[in-house]
Amino acid sequence: MHVASPPGGLRAAVAGTGPSMPGTPAIEVRDLTKFYGDVAAVDGLDLEIQVGEIFAMLGPNGAGKTTTVEILEGYRHRDGGEVRVLGYDPGRERRLLKPLIGIVLQSTGVDRYLTVSETIEMYASYYPHPRPTGEIVELVGLDTKRDARVLKLSGGQQRRLDVAIALAGDPDLLFLDEPTTGFDPSARREAWEVVKNLAELGKTVLLTTHYMDEAQYLADRVAVMAAGRIVATGTPEELGDRQIDGVRIRFRVPPGTVLPADLAGPTTPDGRVELVPDDLSRTMYRLTGWSLEYGIELEQLEIIRKSLEDVYLELTGGDPTEPEEVTPGGSTPSPGRR
Ligand code: ATP
Repeated sequence: MHVASPPGGLRAAVAGTGPSMPGTPAIEVRDLTKFYGDVAAVDGLDLEIQVGEIFAMLGPNGAGKTTTVEILEGYRHRDGGEVRVLGYDPGRERRLLKPLIGIVLQSTGVDRYLTVSETIEMYASYYPHPRPTGEIVELVGLDTKRDARVLKLSGGQQRRLDVAIALAGDPDLLFLDEPTTGFDPSARREAWEVVKNLAELGKTVLLTTHYMDEAQYLADRVAVMAAGRIVATGTPEELGDRQIDGVRIRFRVPPGTVLPADLAGPTTPDGRVELVPDDLSRTMYRLTGWSLEYGIELEQLEIIRKSLEDVYLELTGGDPTEPEEVTPGGSTPSPGRR
């Protein structure tokens, strides 16, 4: 894991010039393009991330996530478009932006013989307004390891140290590149708590990840990227509901039951009726009302939503899990049975 080199220390000179109020954009991108030869790695990308948001960028390998993030960090030049990060153009004002951002990348180069505290203090010394080391070790859950040498830390603890280093300068905005790749489940949970702690401090976090559950758990909003473009943005819930057939109602009625026309639908292989409602509340009201009125039990009644993963795979042209086969016209419409 590598942590970006220390900044020049200009924060005092620019303090207050970048936006840091919730509800204002921390990141604004319009029509961003980046080519590698003929390959459009980023192809007309628009993006806005608000101060205080945890924003996850999802996408398959080669979608353009890293290229986009590196442009936002000021480490890669763009070919076109407008970019503002905390009010600065990272292409032209990287020196001013650097003290305000923290970057946690995939590989590190810290001295393995220093202790946790010494490492954080070393990085903190490069910044004009560092965050106290004691606060940082607590924030990342390394308080019991503050005097341990880096080489004695587990993989998950080293990753947390990387986050600690990125926090040393008390940045407003953090970039986390696949923060839990290679973690075991409990280390992932712990890392998630660290990210949640950052949000409570009002930090803005842009993370890239391949894990749907991570995006779903952590992110206020998610962007799905494919072939250099953002193909969908929204809260994890909005993405799950974005298509009308994203929600289905399934239920089983006793054999021989005749459903009214507006509650009839195809039958799934397990013998349940499936409805794709335009209005979920209204259809549920109608269905349960009918069931009560005629005393017909609705067995295995379920509302099924697409997971973020299903939506992601559809959007990125992946190989979505085939939906269960549904045969049309399983029940004959009619008023119902007493
Ligand atoms: P991953 O999830 O694998 O990290 P990504 O979404 O971050 O992928 P990028 O690394 O931004 O994607 O790559 C986008 C495209 O640009 C890919 O087609 C990649 O091969 C290409 N690319 C990236 N870096 C370079 C480079 N330095 N030179 C040439 N092509 C590059």
